[in-house]
Parts: sequence; C-alpha cells; structure tokens
Amino acid sequence: MQPATQMWWFTIGRVLATVVAGLGVGWLFGNLGAGLAAALAVHLGWVLANLFRLEWWLRHRNYADPPDVGGVWGEIIAQVVRLHRRKRFHKQRFVQLMRQLQRSTAALPNGVVILNAQREIIWFNRMAAQLLELRSTADLGLRIDNLLREPEFLRYLGRQDYSNPVVIRPTIGEDNYLSLQVAPYGDGQLLLLVSDVSRQMRLEAVRRDFVANASHELRSPLTVISGYLETLGQDPALDPDLAGPVAEMRRQAERMTSIIRDLLELSRLEETDEIVGGAPIDVAALLSLLRKDVLARAVHPHEVRVRVESTAQLIGDDPEIHSAFSNLVDNAAKYTPPEGSIEMRWWTDAEGGHLAVSDTGFGIPSEHIPRLTERFYRVDAGRSRATGGSGLGLAIVKHVLQRHGARLEVQSILGEGSTFTCHFPPERLTRPPVAALTTEPA
Ligand code: ADP
Repeated sequence: MQPATQMWWFTIGRVLATVVAGLGVGWLFGNLGAGLAAALAVHLGWVLANLFRLEWWLRHRNYADPPDVGGVWGEIIAQVVRLHRRKRFHKQRFVQLMRQLQRSTAALPNGVVILNAQREIIWFNRMAAQLLELRSTADLGLRIDNLLREPEFLRYLGRQDYSNPVVIRPTIGEDNYLSLQVAPYGDGQLLLLVSDVSRQMRLEAVRRDFVANASHELRSPLTVISGYLETLGQDPALDPDLAGPVAEMRRQAERMTSIIRDLLELSRLEETDEIVGGAPIDVAALLSLLRKDVLARAVHPHEVRVRVESTAQLIGDDPEIHSAFSNLVDNAAKYTPPEGSIEMRWWTDAEGGHLAVSDTGFGIPSEHIPRLTERFYRVDAGRSRATGGSGLGLAIVKHVLQRHGARLEVQSILGEGSTFTCHFPPERLTRPPVAALTTEPA
C-alpha cells in the first residue's frame, strides 16, 4: 500500500476510534449521545490546534521550524516544506542569473537602453548612463525622446527604419559624437545601442580637411600650368612635333582640374550631414537645360527626351540639385553610344517625387552596382578616363541626395542600358502630385 493511502486509512481509523471511544464512555455513563459529542469535540479541538499551528508556521516559516505533527497534518507540512525549498532554489538561481546578466551588460563597452513600446526607459547599463547622462532612478520610466532631443535622433526614431545608426553631437561646441542604433524586439520593445564615435569622427574630419586642403593647394599651380599650356597650344610658332604632346597635356590638366573641382565639392558636401532646406526648384526648366547641355556635346546620343509628368516643384538647394542631376545626365551621355538614347523623367506619387535618368548605353555588371557611389570607383577605368570622368560624380550625387533626405536607386542591364532614379520624400514637394504635362522630343 502507498504511504499516502496508509496515512489516510490511519486518519479514518483514528476518527472511527474516537467515535467508538465516545460511544463506549457514553454507554458507561448511560448517555450515548453526550459521550459521542464529547469525543468529537475533543477531536475537533485537536484538529483546530493543528490548523492554528500550521497557519502560524506558514506566516513565520522563514525563521520558525515546522511543527512536529504526525499523520495527515505532518504530510501536509512536509509537502509545504518541499515546495518552499524548491521555490527558494529557483529564486536563488534566478537572482544569480540576473546578477550575472547585469554584470555582463555593465561590462559592455557600449551603452544599452531598453525601451518599451511607448519608448519609455525600462532599463539601461552603466555605459549608457555615462554616455547619455542618464540618472539611475530619476530617468527610469521617462520617454527617451524627452531626454534626447537632438533633431537627428528624433527624425531617426520617427522614421522607423533602423538599419543604419544615427550619429548625434550631444554637447554643442564639443567634439563628442555618439552613434545610436535601435534594434526592435519582442512586442514593440526597442533596444537602443549607444557608442562613442568621437575618435572615428575626428579622424574622418582630419581626412576631410586633408583632402580639402590638398585640393585647394593644388588648384592654383594647376591653373597656372593650364594657362601656359593653353597659350602654348595656340602659339602658331609651336613646333608641330610638340602639338600632340601639348594637346595631351592640356587634356590631362583639364582632367586634374575637374578631379580637384569635384574633390572640393565633395569636401564641402561632407562638411555637414545636415538635411538642407532650400527653395522650390522648377524641375521641368532644369531638365530642359540639362537636355540642351547634352545636345551641345561634340558627341552625344542622338535622342534625348524629357518627360515631365508633374507640376510639383522640388524643394532643395538649387546648385546642389543641379550638380546631382547634371552628373547623372552627364554619365548617361558619356556611357551611351551616339546611336543610343537618353530619357529624363520627373513624376510624383504618394511616396514622393522621382527623377529617373535612363539610357540605352553600355550598362553596368550587377556586381559593381552596390559600389558605384564610392569615391573613384569605376567600372571601366579606361572608358571613364577616356570620357574625362573624375570617378567622383556618383559620390557627389549620393551626398546631395542624403542632404535632401532622398536616395538613389540604380538599375542596369549590361549591354542594354541603365536607369538612375532619385527618390525624394513627399515633404520635398511643393504641391500634391497632378497629372502629366510636357514631353520634349529629341
Ligand atoms: P565617372 O566620373 O568615372 O563617370 P561616376 O562616379 O560618375 O564617375 O561614375 C562611377 C562609374 O559608374 C563610372 O566610372 C562608370 O563606370 C559607371 N557609370 C555611371 N553612370 C553610368 C551609366 N549611365 N552607364 C554605364 N556606366 C555608368
């Protein structure tokens, strides 16, 4: 028989024995009912006493020993003791695990902040407290966007595209930079990772300054050399044997000038990552101008079309937008044979404004496309040099678009042609999209 069943038989036996004893005593005194009632009252008193001891011990179980009772009461107490021990064991393990977790996250070289779906701070490690100047108790439960008010961060948080980190400068005037990246997890919760990128940013600034200064210093001597070469090239007394080399020197000097001009422009664009404001730009007029520029080239694709499908104007920095679009159109003209064609298309929809420059030129192998906007990246260096390319055009385009909150999309099929599309957000447009307007033929 199982011990538990045995114990229950024992308990029932005890009740029966009480009843029999009560009846026996009642028979002796000639009153069965009174004897039974007295015996049951004694039993009930014993049960109540056990209940009282059990309840008292449950309340004081952390420091009092369990009562020494036998039978079913003893078994109940033993079970409670077992449950209590198991709970204490799991609690200790949990606390240990939490401590380890806290120690390891505290030792992380990066800051970590846990935010709930309302963007309120749930927890942060020591590094986050140091970098973001968070106070351990006062800032818990506060919204992160109330504590970190840098516009770049607020825009980043609102955008909901957290694939790239955002860099902020929390203390104006000081050279401190923080990189912030959000990683969503669970049910709308966010993990905010913070790291100090001041050193990288300083090195980047040194590199930028060096390029800008070197380009600047090279410009003056090059202007002198170009000037003399031009004079020399036009001199009728020039030895005919030297005419070829001088012409080549002039071409190379022109290339160097264009590289330096592009380097200086890139340095200027890189100075700040800030989003530029600007004024409405008449895209139709700009494209018409760019079309004329292509047609004015000595060699150009025979067909250059402009399709303007929206009267919406683009809000941006006119010289920058001009430079970006003209780089794209210039590339289309450079990398398309004379029998090919180019099309510039401007349209708007719910997603914003789009400018696409398509050509039926040489195209680009797909493995090169992700790297096209890198400085000096050329698919075919020989062809680029032959066309006077600096290798910086698309890097300029990328920076200009970044500064306008826009992005560049490149589609190309080798041997068939390419399409470079600039996607501008709706807030860059002056008015809601309307239907198609002009088409300029070749
Ligand atoms: P580059 O001054 O050499 O044209 P870019 O930065 O403007 O430099 O372009 C980078 C490279 O991308 C070019 O060297 C060229 O190989 C390729 N490329 C750009 N636009 C086109 C195009 N429309 N068709 C084919 N290749 C292109």
